[in-house]
Amino acid sequence: MAKICEETQGSIALGADLSREEDEHVRICGKCNLLLTEYQSLMLLLSDSMDIDVPSGFADAVMNKIEMEEKSLASDWLEKYIIAFERLIAIPQAQYLAMGLGAAVSLINLIRFVFFVLIPVQ
Ligand SMILES: [Zn+2]
Repeated sequence: MAKICEETQGSIALGADLSREEDEHVRICGKCNLLLTEYQSLMLLLSDSMDIDVPSGFADAVMNKIEMEEKSLASDWLEKYIIAFERLIAIPQAQYLAMGLGAAVSLINLIRFVFFVLIPVQ
């Protein structure tokens, strides 16, 4: 890429005013001309979209909707979890299993305690 192209494209990208040399170059260089045209139409598009009036309360309405959906999602998840848990603890086998697990953990803790007391620290 020629030096004048680099300089011109740099000025365009920075949104700076083109020097007389760069201005003349843009007229004869296809690449730089295309970049300038694209840049200008982008700026036009941006300034247009900045002018669009957002209905008052629009942002609040959007945020409220997002918040509501998040809340309903959270309570759905919690509800399903609670229902599943209630069903599970209603099953006698599950109760025995939980009791067995509890007993096993207690036993292990008791054994660990006994060994801890019996075996002297070296
Ligand atoms: Zn150029």
